[in-house]
Amino acid sequence: MSIKIENISKNFGSFAALTDVDLNIESGELVALLGPSGSGKTSLLRIIAGLEQPDQGNIYFGEQNMTDVEAIKRQVGFVFQHYALFSHMSVAENISYGLRVKPRKERPSKKEIKDKVKELLELVKLDGLENRYPSQLSGGQRQRVALARALAVQPKVLLLDEPFGALDAKVRKDLRRWLRKLHDEFHITSVFVTHDQEEALDVSDRVVVMNDGQIKQIGTPDEVYENPNSPFVFDFLGNVNIFKGRVHNGIFQSSGDEIYHRDIAATVQNTKKDTFAYTRPHQFDIQTTEQGEGYLPVSIQYIHAVGPIVFIEAKREQGDLIEIELEKSKFIDLGITQGQVVFVKPKQIKVFTPEEFSI
Ligand code: ATP
Repeated sequence: MSIKIENISKNFGSFAALTDVDLNIESGELVALLGPSGSGKTSLLRIIAGLEQPDQGNIYFGEQNMTDVEAIKRQVGFVFQHYALFSHMSVAENISYGLRVKPRKERPSKKEIKDKVKELLELVKLDGLENRYPSQLSGGQRQRVALARALAVQPKVLLLDEPFGALDAKVRKDLRRWLRKLHDEFHITSVFVTHDQEEALDVSDRVVVMNDGQIKQIGTPDEVYENPNSPFVFDFLGNVNIFKGRVHNGIFQSSGDEIYHRDIAATVQNTKKDTFAYTRPHQFDIQTTEQGEGYLPVSIQYIHAVGPIVFIEAKREQGDLIEIELEKSKFIDLGITQGQVVFVKPKQIKVFTPEEFSI
């Protein structure tokens, strides 16, 4: 089921929580709403669910305008951060709740409900725990019960609000990967809210980056990470190095150092005033002896290896620190040590015009 969000605005008193939001979600997509606290993610999710009414705009599921349709009639499954399980009900009773409260005509038989619960317990890998109560489960298990409960009513759309936010890092990662696999099996159009960029980039088909009640960028994880359209998105999505300077005929000149980049021509040719060039830590070329133009001498301050990646902090001559990420094999080939002076050049930089800083 596709979702179309058309020109949605929502105010709380004089505060604009959402302003003119447009978004098309394709049938079967897994989309992450990503943004800092207060950016409007939950408000948008609640409007899709029908738990909140927009002041302006429309929501469509497929061709059907759902804007005035009650939440209960929208056929959405909702999973919240804090489980929201019924503590006095067993796992099986929680999962079957949505089926048991259906109007008599639509309600499945006791046998059908039992079979459905069994099937869902297997799906969320909780078989054998049907008689436990929420207090007897781990956080990850509770969240899987919440998901099974949401799936029991065969929703057309699955909405998840920080579903793994309360779990520790390892469980979080396992569960989100598992959610992705589950999604690939069932293709239920799913929207999940997170403020964790790693989570959004790791599992979604597309990421919707929000700030101040507006959508700042929509794209695949690769697009938004590698080609952010604003300083905000660049900064919010990962580590970044920022160089101050000017562009002259397509060449970025930073505090006396010259850094070339072919991309600059596409966006900015000349800047009269100082502006900023952005580079991700993995976007540097690094040499132990200077060969070619545009390399900056830096001294290695800190080296930290995690698995296949080596994180390096290096100091420029004028004092700024640069963060660099190198593949371990490359790091070993270069034989870099602490205190050494090496030469670095961004393979890619993105220059934003002063106007783009206000986006
Ligand atoms: P978080 O990650 O902290 O949950 P969010 O991006 O999901 O943030 P929302 O919960 O959508 O943000 O809130 C957006 C803004 O609207 C916030 O400033 C919040 O305080 C405000 N807001 C949300 N709901 C209400 C409400 N019922 N009454 C008043 N203000 C509200």
